[in-house]
Amino acid sequence: MLSEFEIIQACFNQPGLAAVPGDVVRLGIGDDCTLLSVPSGKELAMSLDTLVAGVHFPEGADPMLVGYRALVVSLSDLAAMGAEPAGFTLGLTLPAADQDWLEGFSAGLKEAALAFRCPLLGGDTTRGPLTITIQVHGLNDAGKAILRSGARPGDAVYVTGSLGNAAFAIRELLGTEHMHDSARARYEQAFYRPMPKLALGHAAAGVVSAGIDISDGLLADLGHVCRLSGTGAQLALAAIPVGAPLQEYLPQQEALALALTGGDDYELLLTVSAVHEQALVALGEMLGLPPVRIGVITDGDTVECLDASGKPVTFAASGYRHF
Ligand code: ADP
Ligand code: MG
Repeated sequence: MLSEFEIIQACFNQPGLAAVPGDVVRLGIGDDCTLLSVPSGKELAMSLDTLVAGVHFPEGADPMLVGYRALVVSLSDLAAMGAEPAGFTLGLTLPAADQDWLEGFSAGLKEAALAFRCPLLGGDTTRGPLTITIQVHGLNDAGKAILRSGARPGDAVYVTGSLGNAAFAIRELLGTEHMHDSARARYEQAFYRPMPKLALGHAAAGVVSAGIDISDGLLADLGHVCRLSGTGAQLALAAIPVGAPLQEYLPQQEALALALTGGDDYELLLTVSAVHEQALVALGEMLGLPPVRIGVITDGDTVECLDASGKPVTFAASGYRHF
């Protein structure tokens, strides 16, 4: 059985994962605190997420996938603010010092840390029910962060990628006992390996009026933007990019409903004024993430969905709530 110190040294303070001191990171793992230096003209963006086994991911999930996903979903919050990653801290609660689990988990973390240049800065390790808390730290040009509160009536609403894929994937992974390996790999990709849109978020800061990453579902997250911006929105249902597997396997209305309300895709929702609309589209195309125009911000106070003939349609669920 590994001691707490051995776990930290072997699994977390390892090359490729642990931060190396530089301009921003003055001191990483090992002391009582981590030291970060924020360059002048920058500001620090921080976001914390807790993932509980059995709530946010299945109890017996592959630890490598759990580690990878834990970091990228937090990185998605930095993407939504337009921030560049500086590093992350990790609060890990484990039922036992299971070496296989820890090796897989830290390998998944390391893959994401290297891919998105976000090294581990420090943390805390305790015993208890499996819970992972990650706080990411990123840098924005001062005053340039993308906020949820900046949308204005008349702005266009854009979304990257396609929607409902992760919600459909986890439903299949939990509900289908015997699954072909290639199907399993595809669904695991959709749920455990979402792509944080860091380059687009960073490039779009200063171009877009507001933004959010879609973690709870399009309607719920657009609702957050509208509430904080003091606006409403109208969505054109015909324009919603419904994920390909949903279109293939679900009846049309059910596919659309899942695309609107299913969470965990971590696509970006961005609002943009007419003046900057072409600039946003050009940025998206350049970065290989052409955004899709799905609606417009209104001076109302609700998110309305209009069908092809302009008739309002209501959808029930609006995002996952813990309480
Ligand atoms: P303290 O008791 O002073 O809080 P700890 O023993 O908790 O210190 O941690 C010792 C060092 O190891 C600290 O630098 C801390 O940041 C780091 N550390 C502990 N757990 C983790 C972890 N899960 N991931 C990364 N660093 C960790
Ligand atoms: Mg201490």
